[in-house]
Amino acid sequence: MSEITHYKIIVVGSGPAGLTAALYAARADLAPLVLEGLQPGGQLTITTDVENYPGFPEGIMGPELMDLMREQAKRFGAECQFKIATGVDFSAHPFRVKTAALEYTADALIIATGASARLLGLESESLLMGHGVSACATCDGFFFRDKELVVVGGGDSAMEEGTYLTKFASKVTIVHRREEFRASKIMLKRAEENEKVDFVLNATVEEILQTDGELAVRGVLLKDVLTGETREFGCDGVFMAIGHVPNSQIFNELLEMDNQGYILTKSDSTATSIEGVFACGDVQDTVYRQAVTAAGTGCMAAIEAEWFLAH
Ligand code: NAP
Repeated sequence: MSEITHYKIIVVGSGPAGLTAALYAARADLAPLVLEGLQPGGQLTITTDVENYPGFPEGIMGPELMDLMREQAKRFGAECQFKIATGVDFSAHPFRVKTAALEYTADALIIATGASARLLGLESESLLMGHGVSACATCDGFFFRDKELVVVGGGDSAMEEGTYLTKFASKVTIVHRREEFRASKIMLKRAEENEKVDFVLNATVEEILQTDGELAVRGVLLKDVLTGETREFGCDGVFMAIGHVPNSQIFNELLEMDNQGYILTKSDSTATSIEGVFACGDVQDTVYRQAVTAAGTGCMAAIEAEWFLAH
């Protein structure tokens, strides 16, 4: 490692949380560095229309919204680098942040690395993501009015999203790989009592079937895990609800986390277990996981970092 560049604030991650933190830190004259990570712009760059972000009555494409946020942060002096933080050292102050080729120091660190929806890992799933396959019912449910949908999963998210999607869809089939549910009784009961919701149990989705010559979904290939038999099941869209994975791996053992790897923050604050290190957005949010809430906590993190630096 040669030169080490110092910043007052480094923001790790560039979704709505990271870029809002960068905007506020930049406007406070702290000239933050944003290490954008593997997916600059975060999860919104894999969705299409965003219709629930305030201020855009006609909706806005996810990637465009993120470009605008980046421009806004840069306008006030945030520096965005397409680099991935590979390691951190909190044992001394200033903190150290490493990327593959460079090393930085920072007086305060804002973690906004987000979470990634857990996916099945099928090629057809990534091909049709945003074209009939989604991992966010709140974002994309609206596009499936009077359509038939499959929701994959057996936890609270699957029950909640399955139930929510019946507002739009004519039928929702929850496909779960076991017979017992991880979901709480009340959420399961609510889904079971909804006449638009059906269940296929002991089944896995082996493939998502594409409409001939079109980037659209015509069904899924289901495998009965008890008999091993496969069958095609027609549907217009597939929602993955098999959990999220917080992108907190590089902070393992360094910060307090819950048993799923979400970074723990103090009540009504973005402060983590290390003074001067703040966490915002989906990497610390097990409840809301919305762009607007991520942006809100990004703002909190920048304000708290500014207070920290002032003392
Ligand atoms: P979760 O509880 O981890 O459930 C994930 C589900 O997906 C499980 O049923 C799991 O099956 C299944 N799954 C995981 N990997 C799979 C794969 N590769 N193929 C097929 N199925 C797979 O996740 P979650 O439902 O997102 O909930 C996360 C947390 O948020 C929970 O603590 C939950 O209570 C909470 N939450 C609460 C609410 C609410 O109260 N309103 C709403 C949503 C979420 P197995 O069961 O076989 O492992």
